[in-house]
Amino acid sequence: MKSSYRVVVIGGGVVGASVLYHLAKFGWTDVALVERSVLTAGSSWHAAGGIHALNADPNMAALQAYTIDLLAEIEKESGQDIGLHMTGGITVASTDARWEWLHSA
Ligand SMILES: Cc1cc2nc3c(=O)[nH]c(=O)nc-3n(C[C@H](O)[C@H](O)[C@H](O)COP(=O)(O)OP(=O)(O)OC[C@H]3O[C@@H](n4cnc5c(N)ncnc54)[C@H](O)[C@@H]3O)c2cc1C
Repeated sequence: MKSSYRVVVIGGGVVGASVLYHLAKFGWTDVALVERSVLTAGSSWHAAGGIHALNADPNMAALQAYTIDLLAEIEKESGQDIGLHMTGGITVASTDARWEWLHSA
């Protein structure tokens, strides 16, 4: 490992890994990722794999759509089965207030 890089990403969770992946994708080579434990040692290890596809914020919705496409792209690029199953989901509203919230989210 060198003593300096153009970019050092700290943390090898999904966010850090994604930042490093995208830097590499845009042609940045002098980059490194530093992880204090093992990759995905933090919250990323615990994630249930739920992928949200709807959001009232158009920027978040675009990011979510990009991510869904990216997962299939990464599978193709790496040649590894990432075990993605798009099953859909159901959100239940048991009160009117919750129903309203679901429509605004
Ligand atoms: C039980 C649970 C279920 C979840 N389910 C879902 C789900 O279904 N769908 C969904 O979208 N999200 C889910 N999430 C949320 C999701 O897991 C997190 O939002 C996401 O993993 C956060 O990623 P991150 O890279 O920001 O953080 P992390 O994955 O926590 O990564 C941070 C990394 O940084 C490292 N680090 C910290 N400090 C340093 C340091 N000083 N030097 C070097 N490395 C350091 C840590 O070791 C860790 O590996 C869930 C979360 C939990 C806890």
